Amino acid sequence: MSTAQALLSELVAELRVEFPGFRVAFKDESRAQQVIGYGARLFGNPSYVADYITVLGRTVWFPDRAAFDGNPAATVETLLHERVHMWDWARRPVWFPVSYAFCAPAIRTMRAEWERRAYAVDVVAARLSGRKVDAVVEEMQGIFAGPGYFYMWTAVDEIAAWVKSVYATGPVCSRPGDARLYAGIDAYLRRLY
Ligand SMILES: [Zn+2]
Repeated sequence: MSTAQALLSELVAELRVEFPGFRVAFKDESRAQQVIGYGARLFGNPSYVADYITVLGRTVWFPDRAAFDGNPAATVETLLHERVHMWDWARRPVWFPVSYAFCAPAIRTMRAEWERRAYAVDVVAARLSGRKVDAVVEEMQGIFAGPGYFYMWTAVDEIAAWVKSVYATGPVCSRPGDARLYAGIDAYLRRLY
């Protein structure tokens, strides 16, 4: 078993304990997810089912089984990102989903606030795996300012500043428990890279 495969098994077991009811499911096997995908297409995201991993409560939806099994290291990273969402959702069971879904025109939506907390994981992973900061800035600008999340944060200069800060000094711990949350995530990432 590869290191990444072993880490993935360990992480899934840990998430089951941390979030009772945690499970992984597959969009291509769910009619409800196909319907959501149709709605997302109308709002400008044509690849919700094929390309996006989505957390709903304690279920993490992958596009299909191959997307989960194909690259264990990438799946570990993804589950650590979704762990931040499940953590926030468990602590704000009403506010998280309501504010995440709310997408009135805004300079920076609440969705972007939640995603910044989770994409901090991706930025740290990128640094540990040796990626250059400029490439990470470009990737995050595409994610935050683009149609994938419905233009949740369009101030590209601010996005660049945020990425550089996380890349240099790690995630911002602004809520109770954040230090513990991110330390646990960091430990996985350091074993991965
Ligand atoms: Zn996310």
